[in-house]
Amino acid sequence: MDRRRFIRGISAAAGLTAASPYVRSAFAAEGVAGSSRVNSVAVIGAGIVGASVAYNLSKRGCDVVVIEKNEPASQASGNSFAWLNASYYDTPKSYYTLRTHSLNEYHRLAKDVDIPIHWGGSLEWYESAEQQQEVIDGVHRIQSSGAPTWMIDAAKASDIDPNIHIDPDRRIAWCSRDGAIDPAGTTRALLQRAENYGAAVLHPATVTGIVQQRNGIRVVSNVENFDVDLAVVAAGVGASEIARMAGLEIDPMRPATPGIIVTTKPMPRIVNAVAYTSDTHFHQRSDGRVILGEKAGPPATDEHRALLNGRPNSYPSPDLATEHATRVINVARRYIPKIADAKVESVGVGWRPLPRDGLPVIGHPMSVPGIYFAAMHSGVTLAPIVGHLAAMEILDGVRVDLLADFRYERL
Ligand SMILES: Cc1cc2nc3c(=O)[nH]c(=O)nc-3n(C[C@H](O)[C@H](O)[C@H](O)COP(=O)(O)OP(=O)(O)OC[C@H]3O[C@@H](n4cnc5c(N)ncnc54)[C@H](O)[C@@H]3O)c2cc1C
Repeated sequence: MDRRRFIRGISAAAGLTAASPYVRSAFAAEGVAGSSRVNSVAVIGAGIVGASVAYNLSKRGCDVVVIEKNEPASQASGNSFAWLNASYYDTPKSYYTLRTHSLNEYHRLAKDVDIPIHWGGSLEWYESAEQQQEVIDGVHRIQSSGAPTWMIDAAKASDIDPNIHIDPDRRIAWCSRDGAIDPAGTTRALLQRAENYGAAVLHPATVTGIVQQRNGIRVVSNVENFDVDLAVVAAGVGASEIARMAGLEIDPMRPATPGIIVTTKPMPRIVNAVAYTSDTHFHQRSDGRVILGEKAGPPATDEHRALLNGRPNSYPSPDLATEHATRVINVARRYIPKIADAKVESVGVGWRPLPRDGLPVIGHPMSVPGIYFAAMHSGVTLAPIVGHLAAMEILDGVRVDLLADFRYERL
């Protein structure tokens, strides 16, 4: 963290001296400076979305401080399945399009930031005839948008991924452009790059208030206050609380839901694609770790409700964690027998940040100046494009059409 540099940047901007923060940016050297009056930004939340916004803003010379109440990537981004995809179930079409752009943006990002992505495609299949038909219809729909997705049979799936065993009667959706990443590693790499561009990352520090001022926003935290031109809300499940602090009347989020993520120790490659089916999903990252998730949520018992109160990220005891991991691996063994050799490294509980209608909430809410929202599920897939477009909207003062369906006002 380099708070002194951040504070120096703010004073320079506030004094409107010739020391424009754009000057030190390589981006500015390319002649791409901003045209809005935003020179300093506080990003609330150091998950993958906040990290991407901070990276894109600081790359363009904006003074950025990231304020994180725990550790970077300790919430949804560190406990995510992290499948990068644009799929048949992404409706409306604008949502599918946004995700497609983000996959392309990942290829661009990987040239500037060290993020090992495994581009192994995805295989998706279901047991019930109804679900299978849904997949077939959806694949036809996205093929009309040119998606590299096809329905294939089990023999072809076995050519693609010889270790995955699929019932010969199944039809499988194969999308060749999908990938998977290490979301915590990616978040840290983006933050590191943002710091290289001059950003400060402050943690642990909890934002407790947002105060409108004549010339911007005061972001109040339990460690330090920041007077900035704009605050970006990238607080994941904490977005509701920040919205309240900012005086927004409509809560953008619905209650978060938990998901178990089992991570194995690195092992020789046993699976190439992201596999997704009725009761399990798994993939193997480029570092050799296999990531597994389960479809079933927690049982609706009082005991489980009590355990899940307060949104824990871990199990109450190591024994319970091991028991759950064993169950998840046993389900996956039916499709990938080689997973029996895996050694469990960690078991996490992630909480999905879910906007009210499932679609991202991105942009300046019209009723409150100085605030920019970036709250979404599928934030691992969407982080690159959201960071890129948010920086454009914030620094260039434009409204990007691609984001028109995702504004706060629709809520
Ligand atoms: C089990 C599971 C599986 C998933 N699978 C996928 C998938 O396959 N593909 C995909 O694209 N997405 C997936 N997602 C969704 C994806 O992980 C999230 O959308 C994404 O991580 C959200 O990133 P974020 O940065 O917005 O939120 P987070 O990572 O939660 O970061 C928000 C940060 O804000 C901080 N914060 C909150 N309040 C405050 C405050 N008051 N002051 C300071 N800091 C604060 C938090 O501590 C947190 O670190 C999955 C999620 C889960 C839980």
